[in-house]
Amino acid sequence: MTNAKQPKTNKQKIGQQETRISALKVLLNYYQDITETIREPFIILNKELLVVTANDAFYSKFKVLKEDTENQSIYRLGNNQWDTPELRKLLENILPEHRVLNNYEVKNDFPDIGPKVMLLNARQVDSKQLILLAITDVTKQRKFRNDSAKMTAGLIKQHDRLKKLSDAKDEFIMVASHQLRTPATAVKQYVGMLLEGYGGKMSKTQTGMLSTAYESNERQLEIIEDLLRVAKVDEGKVYLTKSSYNVVRQIEEVIKDQLASFDIRQQTIVFDKPAEPVIVYIDKKLMRMVLDNLLDNASKYSYRGGQILINLKQTNKYTIIAIKDKGVGILKKDHNKLFQRFSRIDNPLSLTVSGTGLGLYWVKKILDLHEGSMEVISKFSQGSTFTIKLPILDDKKSLKK
Ligand code: ADP
Repeated sequence: MTNAKQPKTNKQKIGQQETRISALKVLLNYYQDITETIREPFIILNKELLVVTANDAFYSKFKVLKEDTENQSIYRLGNNQWDTPELRKLLENILPEHRVLNNYEVKNDFPDIGPKVMLLNARQVDSKQLILLAITDVTKQRKFRNDSAKMTAGLIKQHDRLKKLSDAKDEFIMVASHQLRTPATAVKQYVGMLLEGYGGKMSKTQTGMLSTAYESNERQLEIIEDLLRVAKVDEGKVYLTKSSYNVVRQIEEVIKDQLASFDIRQQTIVFDKPAEPVIVYIDKKLMRMVLDNLLDNASKYSYRGGQILINLKQTNKYTIIAIKDKGVGILKKDHNKLFQRFSRIDNPLSLTVSGTGLGLYWVKKILDLHEGSMEVISKFSQGSTFTIKLPILDDKKSLKK
């Protein structure tokens, strides 16, 4: 019987080596099969860093031949193009210590394929006999990342510059409007006094002329107020003072106030309302301006004899007000301009009615402050429906009475 502690005979040693070699061959075949299924460049090295095998993706990516690659030191491949201090450090120091390399980024300027950024993933297997090395070319991704970082920095700079310009413009509009308000108000007072006869008797022609001046001046003051209001909302200085209010009554008030203009245009208005009051929790004054604007637009942008329909309903989540006209309508391409500042959209009636292009911008801001929304459905030449949706935020205060 052989003693276990006795030294092995040469025959035994050779036998053991052969078994080991055939086990390695089986393992290699196994790895080779896997290697070929990988689409990224992949290479197997032995512990002396000689290439055991590589996949087709490796040969084609790095423009090297199989026969010049196998059994070569990795550093010798393609005219020593892999012999970099970075790779030596990874393979000779870091990998033996950790057995695994995850996503190590290395940069190399390859003579045949140019500068590349690669991600290396490596693993020592089979008792450190073999090294599996996967190489992912991330040059394009890194370039894209750098380019987009540069682009973002550029855009931020440009945005800051535009913001400064826009702030300066807003400031200018606000100061100019303020300065204009005082003299324009004085004109209104004095023309008003003349019209009331404080300056003595005037002829019919003089009264007619002064009345026109008075109307223009009123219009001028309205524009100034619009400008100041918008500047204030842009500065975030418009605050809501909310209370519970019957929106049926509010809509009726708005209709009543605008009846004169409907009459002039021979338009009719129909208010389709629920039988009961609809209580909403809103800033009464600001919501009134929203309704005023929308109804005024519906009338302004409808032809003579047109009809406007207001529909009001409440669900358990929203109060919904729809203002529908059969007027000029809005082209699809213009829909995105509707809520922009100073955006007047050309239509067959826009030359005959006055406007600043600030109304809908203001409306949208006020609805935003109420956490509400606005939807527009419109077809050119067929009419528009502007629908406001106000959330019922406070159950107690918004309960239907
Ligand atoms: P303004 O009426 O002072 O021009 P608005 O901000 O109220 O400004 O409206 C912006 C533009 O939207 C208007 O110039 C007009 O072309 C269009 N618009 C608004 N309401 C309607 C509507 N009901 N029908 C057709 N076009 C409309």
